[in-house]
Amino acid sequence: MISDRPDVLIVGAGFAGMYAIHRFRNQGLNVLALEAGSDVGGTWYWNRYPGARCDVPSLEYSFGFSKELEQQWGWPEVFSAQPDILRYANHVADRFDLRGNIRFNTRVNAVDYLEQQNLWRATTEHGEQIEARFCVMATGCLSVPNTPKLPGAESFTGRVLHTGLWPKEKVDLAGKRVGVIGTGSSGVQAIPELAKQAHHLTVFQRTPVYTVPANRKAMRDAVQQEFRDRYHDIRKMQQQNPGGVSGFQPLASVNRPATDPAAPPLAPAAILELTPDQRRQVVAERGLGALLTFRDAYTNLEANEAANEAFRDGVRSIVDNPDTAERLCPTTYGLGCKRQVLDRDYYVTFNRDDVTLVDVTETPIESITENGICTSAQSYDFDVLIYATGFDAMTGALLRANITGREGQRLADKWRHGPVAYLGLQMSGFPNLFTVTGPGSPSVLCNMLVAIEQHVNWIGDCIDYLRENNLARIEPLPEAENDWVAHVNEVAKGTMYTTPGCNSWYLGANIPGKPRIFMPYVGGYPRYRERCEQIVANGYEGFRFR
Ligand code: FAD
Ligand code: NAP
Repeated sequence: MISDRPDVLIVGAGFAGMYAIHRFRNQGLNVLALEAGSDVGGTWYWNRYPGARCDVPSLEYSFGFSKELEQQWGWPEVFSAQPDILRYANHVADRFDLRGNIRFNTRVNAVDYLEQQNLWRATTEHGEQIEARFCVMATGCLSVPNTPKLPGAESFTGRVLHTGLWPKEKVDLAGKRVGVIGTGSSGVQAIPELAKQAHHLTVFQRTPVYTVPANRKAMRDAVQQEFRDRYHDIRKMQQQNPGGVSGFQPLASVNRPATDPAAPPLAPAAILELTPDQRRQVVAERGLGALLTFRDAYTNLEANEAANEAFRDGVRSIVDNPDTAERLCPTTYGLGCKRQVLDRDYYVTFNRDDVTLVDVTETPIESITENGICTSAQSYDFDVLIYATGFDAMTGALLRANITGREGQRLADKWRHGPVAYLGLQMSGFPNLFTVTGPGSPSVLCNMLVAIEQHVNWIGDCIDYLRENNLARIEPLPEAENDWVAHVNEVAKGTMYTTPGCNSWYLGANIPGKPRIFMPYVGGYPRYRERCEQIVANGYEGFRFR
């Protein structure tokens, strides 16, 4: 039931907010979640663009907190599409009766700490105010779509869409001239589907990607069943894996006859052991994805460049038009700098007569006009303009919520030079306010459902600890927070994520004016989880109580 005086106020009802409701309610807490959207699912509610799907196997990108859920839910594909993941979110909401604790269509515009009462007060877009002892920001790492400020954008008279805000109703692109800006994960997934639907598709690319073909297999019953039988071990394996993915190989997939043409041949561990011709042969025989299996490509710059060059050769061999192929080849950064992109038929899409690639580094977008896009070279007319331009990641939703802590300190001021938080869970000066998968935690470098469950469990246990010990509030010590931030920066140094020329949203580089700092924790999920556990075992080391 919805309570106006909850113990815990949760902002957001994506997978994080959903699990938080269930977990905290089971602890006997009174819970209310406020969600801007009209239903559950977060990412999978908002990102309905054609081609949207996960890049972590669905059997792993699923909740582990309920054995019954694990046993009864069936995934139709190995990497499921957005409609199936949203169906899963809805199933979870129904099964655990979560909607009764959620107020939908309610964006939180301000979150203020009332020091005298030791309460958090959320002010919604409708002007309501709700107070609670604890506030949990489950607002998502990739939930604030980024629309670049292009001159004249408002003058376009056709339809404007963003992949991260895709409408619920079907978008009919038949017979339409469509322009799409952006070639990150969202653009790469959408472009082949948009090309199939539109009369003509023009792709405006600023930075080419390294994208490899995704696994397109339907789920086999034997594989699904093996996971169900072994989930107990698989969840434990996830806890030991740096990316929160068990790596479990179902016997149903592994035990194939040696003659099975689909069984991948073994590759050497180091790309530098191969000649350029041999590298090209690996790509020709096993596809671009084979390059991701060379460990040295992620630890050694020479090996990285060898893999990058083999990748470019692979692109040149797929794309018919040599100029287009060259424009699709990434040259300014290497594999491993950005989140790996997975696609279905991305490069071959550029062999279609009804698809045009425009390189906006060569011919920059000068303005958006009434009819379309004007670059330095020519103008393009469209019926529909699609922004696949990503998100103000990691910090965007937290800053947008206008959080003000003790002594009137605004989070926006505290984070002026980049996010400062302890474990990505709490900030000094903001007692009893928690962030799920906040900056400085493994978050987006991990299977997010694993990261979410770990954070929500930690927060739930912390609230229990406070209640059991009659403690009114908890917040990190500034020195513990600063040490953690220094550690987060230290482990990121020397990795492929921070090489010169690498401009990713992990670094905030996609948003003009955003402080450039590597935001997620790259030290690996198990190391991070163990640190969180150790901190609790040491009596919440680095935190102070009142
Ligand atoms: P979200 O799902 O983003 O939910 C946050 C919710 O908070 C949203 O519903 C939003 O409306 C609400 N909210 C935010 N601010 C406010 C406010 N002020 N007031 C009220 N409500 C608010 N991760 C993976 O691990 N594997 C994948 O394969 C994968 N694929 C992805 C594909 C896409 C297209 C995108 C965008 C992300 C993907 N991610 C993936 C990351 C994904 O965001 C997480 O896996 C996960 O869904 C995050 O859940 P969440 O609840 O933390 O955040
Ligand atoms: P993104 O990776 O940030 O890509 C945004 C694209 O828009 C980039 O190509 C960017 O170019 C371009 N762009 C931005 N501003 C521009 C401008 N002013 N002019 C021209 N181009 C501009 O965003 P995303 O594709 O939405 O993906 C974000 C993250 O969401 C992913 O990394 C991933 O974590 C998650 N995601 C996952 C999946 C999946 O496969 N499961 C799918 C979608 C999203 P530059 O590179 O030059 O900045």
